[in-house]
Amino acid sequence: MREGGCGCGAVRYRVEGDPIFVNNCHCTQCQHQTGSTSVVNAFFESERVTLLEGELSENVVRSGSGGPHVIVRCKACGVALWSHYPRLGRIGAGLRVGTLDDSGAFRPDAAIFLSERMPWVALPEGIPAFETTYDFAEVLPPERVTRMRALIARSKA
Ligand SMILES: [Zn+2]
Ligand SMILES: [Zn+2]
Repeated sequence: MREGGCGCGAVRYRVEGDPIFVNNCHCTQCQHQTGSTSVVNAFFESERVTLLEGELSENVVRSGSGGPHVIVRCKACGVALWSHYPRLGRIGAGLRVGTLDDSGAFRPDAAIFLSERMPWVALPEGIPAFETTYDFAEVLPPERVTRMRALIARSKA
């Protein structure tokens, strides 16, 4: 179990276990949404993420694929805590790793959308990097591929 929260301290959440995968995304949309170089998202089955205290608000923006991207925020300070993306809908949550109390807990499996990164951003050694996206089955260990396939199957059920 790990815990995290927003910028003002009103929201606290708990997340159970290890993520299915962790992306460090450098795409233009993530830059706009965060005002920073990139975002680090850890993807979980939504039932592993539990709100402990505080109130949430949501807003919807368009994802890179054109579908609805729901950003879940602290209602008081507006900091983004996690997102639901069109591919998995509400059953999957992309947690903003920077909101964890121990933000170093999860290391990215991949750096993605390097084609859109700020030109001076240096890439870390030892993390696979991709110009756009990647095939999760080629990057993740088998047990996490299985978890991802189970979530995709649930999203289609
Ligand atoms: Zn807050
Ligand atoms: Zn992105």
